[in-house]
Amino acid sequence: MDLDTPIEFLKGIGPERSKLIKNVLDSSTVEDFLNFFPIRYLDKSKIYKISNLKEDLPDVQLLGSIIDLKEIGEGRAKRLSAKFQDETGTMDLVWFKYSKWLKEQIPLNQKVYIFGKVTLFNRQFSMTHPEIELEEHKDRSARLIPVYPGSEKLSKRGLNQKFFQKILRAICAQIPQLIAENLPAYLMDQERLISRQQAYLNIHFPADVAHYEMADRRIKYEEAFYFQLAHALKKQHHHTHAVGHPFEIVGDFFTDFYQHHLPFELTGAQKRVIKEIRTDMRRPVQMNRLLQGDVGSGKTMVALLAMLIAIDNGFQSCMMAPTEILAQQHFNSIQDLLKNTPVQVKLLTGSTKTAERKIIHEQLQNGELSILVGTHAVLEDVVQFKNLGLAIIDEQHRFGVAQRARLWAKNRIPPHILIMTATPIPRTLAMSFYSDLDVSVIDEMPLGRKPIITAHRREKDRLTVFRFAKEEIDKGRQVYFVYPLIEESETLDYKNLTENYAHIADFFEGYNVTMLHGKMKPAEKDEAMQYFASGKAHVMVATTVIEVGVNVPNASVMIIESAERFGLSQLHQLRGRVGRGAEQSYCILLTSDKLSADSRTRIKTMTETNDGFKISEVDMQLRGPGDILGTQQSGLLDFKRLDLVQDGKLIRATKDTAENLLQKDPFLNHEDHRILKKYYMENYRGKNRWSKIS
Ligand code: ADP
Ligand code: MG
Repeated sequence: MDLDTPIEFLKGIGPERSKLIKNVLDSSTVEDFLNFFPIRYLDKSKIYKISNLKEDLPDVQLLGSIIDLKEIGEGRAKRLSAKFQDETGTMDLVWFKYSKWLKEQIPLNQKVYIFGKVTLFNRQFSMTHPEIELEEHKDRSARLIPVYPGSEKLSKRGLNQKFFQKILRAICAQIPQLIAENLPAYLMDQERLISRQQAYLNIHFPADVAHYEMADRRIKYEEAFYFQLAHALKKQHHHTHAVGHPFEIVGDFFTDFYQHHLPFELTGAQKRVIKEIRTDMRRPVQMNRLLQGDVGSGKTMVALLAMLIAIDNGFQSCMMAPTEILAQQHFNSIQDLLKNTPVQVKLLTGSTKTAERKIIHEQLQNGELSILVGTHAVLEDVVQFKNLGLAIIDEQHRFGVAQRARLWAKNRIPPHILIMTATPIPRTLAMSFYSDLDVSVIDEMPLGRKPIITAHRREKDRLTVFRFAKEEIDKGRQVYFVYPLIEESETLDYKNLTENYAHIADFFEGYNVTMLHGKMKPAEKDEAMQYFASGKAHVMVATTVIEVGVNVPNASVMIIESAERFGLSQLHQLRGRVGRGAEQSYCILLTSDKLSADSRTRIKTMTETNDGFKISEVDMQLRGPGDILGTQQSGLLDFKRLDLVQDGKLIRATKDTAENLLQKDPFLNHEDHRILKKYYMENYRGKNRWSKIS
């Protein structure tokens, strides 16, 4: 038997069963089975007394004898009942399903172990369908009994828990031949880890709880460590192999802008981040950097300064945003910032007219145009640069891997890459998922911002909320109303939104109300946005199209309808649309009266903090990491046992361990590290699990 042996060849399986297993569990080799871990264990190491039973215990084991077996009830209520007694008391045993054969098998008046879940009914404990074992037959070596994630489909065909236990016992007996150590001895010593063989043995058949815990920790450690090692190797490889354009100088464009055109003093965080970017781009290595900064932290300015350095070095820049509105806004703010400079900026989106397109294409190729801002439209093959040196991608999680790769290909030597995201990602997630990127964080808001006041209101407070909005408008402010999408039906959404719009227009009679939603044509959207941004409209009724990036500093009230239907990161993004000006801003979360526990947590988190990183931590606990990254990318986090929410500490620690180890021994040539290299090569390299994500 070796790891690749198909289970079909194991005793007691055969082709038919192995086919069924393959279909249901997607497991077909000995290795698959070794990694088919129990979901829980039945603890048969402990013997409970009847007098010590409580409600809500897991399955328990008792020692005593069965008396008074009889059939009771009539028809469908007919059942088999008995009493079970030990030296401390008596409880009921019940069988709802039984055969004559089973009835005759039940041993009466003998010492037996019974095993099962107890429930309390009429102040009397009872156990249904207990497992029964004569004391003299009990297998004393079996203490924690594994329970595998079975399925009805399998157990109906005889592939039940006993079957899995038997197969795994047979496989585990071969562990010394099957499993080789993959961590150096010094590391195991240092981390107090048990051997790999012991870990596999004890994860399936733990001697006791302590052994289970050691096995669990060892397997998690190994997963976290190799995950980090793979990332560290990739980063090392990138830093030594990825050729990039060295931006050696900081010249007139940057300096002139910095000295004469900065509309405000940069925050300390902005300055630090620009320095990090600048240092990166100076080297003849492609930059691959993630810029994280909460909404409103001033990422656009950082992006612009990086682009000016590119221009100083004779290169063009491209900035890509996920939506038309966002691209338009970036373009507007960048154009505005550059208005007194000779730098040429243009916008390219799906709705750019053919004539304008032609000019853009030409100017990109002859080098007249220094900065191109756009949507996916910039990826098209007809868009050719004379010399693209820097690609900036906003809100990167909305772009697929393949799309981003197309930007790289727009120059012979790929451009430097700066990815900007306003979605704060929990630290452990960023460290694991982005650990092959360099990360810069803007963790400081521009001065003078007043924290947004967030309040939770219910349906019955609606009138008060609306009146409050009116008062704010009368003070000269503007107000957003946001409605959730019901994704199943766009038509319904639209109907819903227009009805609400009519309702609001009614209430705000005499004020200007406008509407923005995904079904509008780009030109209509623009018009609505413009109407609001110019201050002519007092109220904007919208769906989540306004979620990202939209910037109207005078809008200071955000009312989110049915707020319980939004996710945390979405609520945070929406709230970021206000609090952009000098006025005190408000975010009001309107919900129905009844809230689920999760909704309550989300709303409470929002009212308690403005800190995007804190919010993202709660979000990850509620949703799990896969959901946060999106389905497309969550496959990358398919761990066997590691849990990004629970095991943050381990993930952080192994990152340091892996990086330190590589620093001392970059090619894993040290004798102690040979097993690392071997295991890595066999299991990670080339599997492309952590393929380029930017
Ligand atoms: P985001 O990080 O969300 O993209 P923006 O770049 O859109 O944030 O900046 C938000 C607002 O803050 C803009 O109006 C911008 O002009 C302003 N801003 C950026 N940096 C500063 C600063 N250092 N001081 C004052 N205002 C700033
Ligand atoms: Mg932005």
